[in-house]
Amino acid sequence: MKTYVVGHQNPDTDSICAAVTYANLRKELGEEVEAIRSGKINAETEFVLDKFEVEAPKLVKKLKGDEKVVLVDHNEMSQAISGLDMNQIVGIVDHHRLGGIETDGPIFFKNETVGSTCTIITKLYKENGVEVSDQMAGLLLSAILSDTVIFRSPTCTDVDKEIAKELAKRLDLDIEKYGIELFKAGSVISTLSPREIIENDYKEYEFAGDLIGVGQIEIMSLSEIDEVKEDLLEAIEEIVEEKGYKFLVLMVTDIIAEGSLLLFNNEANSDISQAFSVDVKETEVYLDAVLSRKKQVVPVLSDYLA
Ligand code: MN
Ligand code: MN
Repeated sequence: MKTYVVGHQNPDTDSICAAVTYANLRKELGEEVEAIRSGKINAETEFVLDKFEVEAPKLVKKLKGDEKVVLVDHNEMSQAISGLDMNQIVGIVDHHRLGGIETDGPIFFKNETVGSTCTIITKLYKENGVEVSDQMAGLLLSAILSDTVIFRSPTCTDVDKEIAKELAKRLDLDIEKYGIELFKAGSVISTLSPREIIENDYKEYEFAGDLIGVGQIEIMSLSEIDEVKEDLLEAIEEIVEEKGYKFLVLMVTDIIAEGSLLLFNNEANSDISQAFSVDVKETEVYLDAVLSRKKQVVPVLSDYLA
């Protein structure tokens, strides 16, 4: 009987790519295995599958209950595909904390403290002496870069970096450049409305009787907002008017360049200029090395308003 390989619900790039690449490895070893998924493919993963010309795994909303299943990128029943019974599990490849699975018999179990399941799977190809195809290398690399936020996440280890570098080299891809492309493809900018982008991570403050709002989005390159900047500014004006704010600042934080572009309503122009002691353009200013709303923006605004 065929064994299914599946990632967690609300699958991310690591879950989908781990399922596909691990199923491929087992197939290369002569087993009857198929990758499946339990939910919708996100924009980032869609970009990866398109780029490396790999078909999305089949969507299975609910298991029948008699299949053999390998879990990748998770090991907790609460995150697993619906219909799964613990005794269906014949393997686990993961990099998360253990979450209470118990089985009748022994299973293949691999859990390592690395930044991505696909790092472990790349090692399994090596251990089994199975050649990684370009398509599989593309998926493995993408998942590692996605899960480690291009090596920036505190969960990223030297092993992740080493393996990603090897994969990138054989694909002739520049890690930083490709990583940014990947994150752009999955960015909220393309999926949320201007108002939703502003309110996605948003806080309201009252200082000396003045009400202000400060939102923040984190992106990989400021060019990502080029097309929506005018719409964002319009939405800022709307919210200011609606809520009676003194002003609203949207921090567009560029994680790569490590700075923030502040967008604000027209009337805030001189306030922002004075508060940060900078020359501002009409409704924007770029502040180098400013990344934290809590530590670098709100205190400046509160001091200014006081
Ligand atoms: Mn995941
Ligand atoms: Mn993961």
